[in-house]
Amino acid sequence: MTHVIAQGCCNDAACVPVCPVDCIHPTPDEPGYGSAEMLYIDPDTCIDCGACIEVCPVSAIHPDYDLPPEQSVFEQWNAQYFWDPIDPIEVPPESTSGSAVTKTAVDPTASARGSLRVAVVGGGPAGFYAAGELLGTRGIDVLVDMFERLPVPGGLLRHGVAPDHAQTKNVFAGFNRIMANKRFRLFANTEVGRDIGHEALASSYDAVIYAVGALSDRRLGIQGEDLPGSHSATEFVAWYNGHPDFRRLEFDLDVERAVVIGNGNVAMDVARILLSDVERLRRTDIAAHALEALATSKVREVHVIGRRGPAEAAFSSPELLGLTQLPGVQVSTDLDSAYLAAALETAHGQARNKLGLLADLPRAVGAEKRAVLSFLRSPEEVLGADGVTGVRLRENTLVADPETGRVSALGTNWSSDLSCGLLLRAVGYRASAVEGVPFDATRHVFANVRGRVLDPVTEDVLSGVYVTGWVKRGPSGVIGTNKLCAQETVANLLDDWAAGRLPVPAEGDVADRLPDAVSVAGWRAVDAHEIASGKEIGRPRLKLVSLTAQRRVALGASV
Ligand code: NAP
Repeated sequence: MTHVIAQGCCNDAACVPVCPVDCIHPTPDEPGYGSAEMLYIDPDTCIDCGACIEVCPVSAIHPDYDLPPEQSVFEQWNAQYFWDPIDPIEVPPESTSGSAVTKTAVDPTASARGSLRVAVVGGGPAGFYAAGELLGTRGIDVLVDMFERLPVPGGLLRHGVAPDHAQTKNVFAGFNRIMANKRFRLFANTEVGRDIGHEALASSYDAVIYAVGALSDRRLGIQGEDLPGSHSATEFVAWYNGHPDFRRLEFDLDVERAVVIGNGNVAMDVARILLSDVERLRRTDIAAHALEALATSKVREVHVIGRRGPAEAAFSSPELLGLTQLPGVQVSTDLDSAYLAAALETAHGQARNKLGLLADLPRAVGAEKRAVLSFLRSPEEVLGADGVTGVRLRENTLVADPETGRVSALGTNWSSDLSCGLLLRAVGYRASAVEGVPFDATRHVFANVRGRVLDPVTEDVLSGVYVTGWVKRGPSGVIGTNKLCAQETVANLLDDWAAGRLPVPAEGDVADRLPDAVSVAGWRAVDAHEIASGKEIGRPRLKLVSLTAQRRVALGASV
């Protein structure tokens, strides 16, 4: 017997330190961690104690005899990691590498300096992991205030994670525990840069940690990109997840074929949502307006376009598996079986898992809907006069960089047109600047060294200003990757505090200036309201999607 990590692994590595025989890998200090789709249990070492099950926030670990049948391939993937580990070269260059974080040994005299007061800006996973790291550090008296632009916390966990990934959303239970801590305060409905400036925050706290994520999208830079019917997947995701800023968007679902450009996990998410049976979605917390629109959707076919080959595809094997198991949907690829067989021969690590799934795709079984995974094609132009009618795709070959081994797409002279009525660009997220905080407009991150924000001109560290999450390292990794990222930032902050390098804050409480801020009690009111309204109609939650409704419930009669 062994335990197996299966669908939904969040990579937060909470299971690693509790394992008495060190059988869960890659650990955060191993080179493969930064590019690992998930963590794996060594079946030869596991002693079946079950300690990992207890701490997994997303219930992704099972004893092998209890593994759901549709997840049986994970047993093979877990074992395979230990004889064919991950190739670390696929880590995006801007990512945190997954290096180990040494916990700060807090100076025992530090508490003599009084409380450490930290402002965390951004109420998504990155912000909560940073708050959790601070509040969980022994030997210090720390107070954490979290500032969130929207009236509700959650960030990408609420507005990015696909509604049918309820397992991943369980991470919120940990965030609720952080919010219950007496040394934590929430100031939601508070935009830094509008309701309170960076300077005011910086002068009121020992340190400010920016964890503002990346909500806007990367552009393709091709003709026709802005035609009606061409949208960024980030907008579509925010729309179906009920983000107040995106709820009024309209998507023409009166079309048979949609094309998704890019083949990362966001592309997998949007393909799955577009093709899902609406009764399946009704059992999720998808926004009511999206459920209504998808109920009458005519979309029957979604083409997902990857510019590189299947071995380099940005989607993870678990997400590909999820798509292939979507009821009523036939998944196919434009690669022929000889190509896949040859690629599988030479593939290793996680690429082998993806190729194995693609090679095993069941042939046509008369499903009502289809997902087609295309590879080695780049969009050249979005076609149409008044709206999208198709996309011109250039065929690519692959070239490997002789030094780094990184494989890139190189265009050929061949192109072909694919007709469609809806085009979603899923080519990555992009962070935006916060007024008053230096921003690297080339890399779309706050210039930083391991979480310490830099002055862009002098390149000196800006005392007391830190960054974590996607705005620190770029939009990469899964939810739990942000935990390691936050550990690094918080460790450096605590080092600076212990060494007396932080500025001394002014007296006073910012709460006096923010009468309309939503507190933890306000969030709890929204949470209870959404769950109760969902229950009335047989759904797990009915999200409040307008700022007005969120504020009304959160702030009670005062709005
Ligand atoms: P991503 O993983 O970076 O994928 C972006 C995709 O767009 C890649 O296929 C990329 O191709 C392609 N692309 C970029 N520029 C392009 C261009 N000019 N033309 C054509 N294709 C282009 O980004 P994402 O899908 O937005 O996901 C962001 C992060 O969130 C990822 O770390 C992802 O794993 C994570 N996420 C996880 C889950 C989950 O675990 N369930 C769900 C959603 C998101 P190349 O590979 O060739 O660059």
